[in-house]
Amino acid sequence: MKRRDFVGGLAAAAGLAACAQEENDCQDTGATSAETFEWSCVTSWPPKFPGLGMAPENLATRIEAASGGRLKIRVYGGGELVPALEVFDAVSRGTVEMGHGASYYHKGKVDAAQFFTAIPFGMTNMELNGWLYYGGGLELYRELYEPFNLVPLPTGNTGVQMGGWFNREINSIDDLKGLKMRIPGLGGEVLRRAGGTPVTLPGAEIFTALQTGAIDATEWVGPYNDASFGLHKAARYYYYPGWQEPGPGLETIINTTAWESLPPDLQEIVNVTAQAITTDMAAEYTHGNAMSLTQLEADPNVEIRPFPDEVLRLLRSITKEVVDELMAADPASAKIGKAYFEFLEKASANSRLSELAFLRARDL
Ligand code: CA
Repeated sequence: MKRRDFVGGLAAAAGLAACAQEENDCQDTGATSAETFEWSCVTSWPPKFPGLGMAPENLATRIEAASGGRLKIRVYGGGELVPALEVFDAVSRGTVEMGHGASYYHKGKVDAAQFFTAIPFGMTNMELNGWLYYGGGLELYRELYEPFNLVPLPTGNTGVQMGGWFNREINSIDDLKGLKMRIPGLGGEVLRRAGGTPVTLPGAEIFTALQTGAIDATEWVGPYNDASFGLHKAARYYYYPGWQEPGPGLETIINTTAWESLPPDLQEIVNVTAQAITTDMAAEYTHGNAMSLTQLEADPNVEIRPFPDEVLRLLRSITKEVVDELMAADPASAKIGKAYFEFLEKASANSRLSELAFLRARDL
């Protein structure tokens, strides 16, 4: 939806007068465009949920402020306008202009999209950002979504997640057998091959499913978001690390027609704000996880445990099988996966002697 704004029209007239004095540089900026835009943004998150749900809210608020009100975006929680996991279709069809969610929810429609959220045992937050913004990842992301009439913008990342909440102990690989667990994306397929039963549920349904015993375990995010859902009241064992999601990137998707209707300066405001939200979310989760972990550690009903190494080794080797099959079956996954793993190999070598070595040294 867009409409002429007559106040804006006056401002544009004033702007054009200023341009006449400077002679040049004014034609292409779009900075004096009179048009205002009113968009809707559907999301996969509970409304205003800490971190995940606030990212699109903050995106909308900051874009409106930065654009002087020329682009107003109304944000809807999952299920308010369209179901939480139907964001991709709604924006692709143009039912709404914008969406916010995670690209691995599109598994089955566009399998290669999973590389842009998280690959089990794959890239961390900063590694993924390095690949997307400087390593050609974002170009591949755009190319993948183009046939769906969508423009993707990375917008947020939760950092390394936790392995999840379990109502039974995981002491060996046998304990994964028969485990019914909420775990989306490739991680879910890995669990299936390890003998478990993966389930995909939107966040809002997790607590009840775990509490009623409909599932035995769930991964969600990390201390900050998990405590918000009260998952520590529905399961005793909290395992780490989040092998399934080492630094999942979130996305904004914009209908291509809506995107192309924006003047260049508004497009740049949207781009820059989305990137700012990614940085902001990393700061928010670093703080929020630290606060919530303290709370969970003090809870006598919670036991925080590492997964046994043999479990992680098995999950890692199954991950390789699953990813190899995905890349063999789907040309887009082959192309994107090749680029992803080429960068991951170099990034891992660097992370090993920087982040990893430093964090070990700090705890000596
Ligand atoms: Ca997760």
